[in-house]
Amino acid sequence: MKETLMNRLTWQEYRHRVQCDASVVFLPVGATEQHGPHLPLGTDHLLADAVSRTVAAKVGGLVAPALAYGYKSQPKCGGGQHFCGTTSLDAATLISQVRDTVREFARHGAKKLVLVNGHYENQWFLIEGIDLALREFGGTPPLSVMRLDYWDFFTTPTLDSIFPDGFPGYALEHAAVLETSMMLHYHPDLVHLDRIPDDGPADFPPYDMYPPHTDWVPPSGVLSSARAATLEKGAMMVEELGDRIAGAVRHEFG
Ligand code: ZN
Ligand code: MN
Repeated sequence: MKETLMNRLTWQEYRHRVQCDASVVFLPVGATEQHGPHLPLGTDHLLADAVSRTVAAKVGGLVAPALAYGYKSQPKCGGGQHFCGTTSLDAATLISQVRDTVREFARHGAKKLVLVNGHYENQWFLIEGIDLALREFGGTPPLSVMRLDYWDFFTTPTLDSIFPDGFPGYALEHAAVLETSMMLHYHPDLVHLDRIPDDGPADFPPYDMYPPHTDWVPPSGVLSSARAATLEKGAMMVEELGDRIAGAVRHEFG
């Protein structure tokens, strides 16, 4: 089987993959952020990396080392910046990391790049980094970039079966059923089911305050309950994501 991890290849092997095989390069982008008492700080970049590996294996792609720090955690979707361990970047720093890495993959001769986002707060800054990199090239850029938030690939029937009482929305799904189930599939040794708290769902007003009112956020850092998470749900989600993201990659990149 073909190697799927860029950091395990020599530079010449890598060059062959991107220049001769025209392999798709996947760049996982996540965060280092509290995920409640039951999931590790690395959840967002571990899941972005794992999903990237699943898809890369299907399309013969390569997964680059993840960008493991993300934009600042927001109370309503990540718990906020007041948690110990949450380690975040200013927007300008994240934008620069994305712009620089996109430019480097282009310099390597990669033609097809997929940014796989695993942290809700990153979204617009990834778009900005990609846009600035492509603008620098002017004219026709030497590579095309696909950007995706992996959770957008779940279908309504899947969400209906995972959330029979109604889907709370992706923002409140922080450290909850989706991430916990997927972590049970990919990294079961890092999930502490016995520590899942009873907090949530969090009830936020329709505005923000600065400095943030940290008492809006459950002290555990979990925004809705993860109690319904199971390994079976995780396996079902991962299968759907793998198939549908691979389908999108093939559609765009052949
Ligand atoms: Zn997360
Ligand atoms: Mn996050």
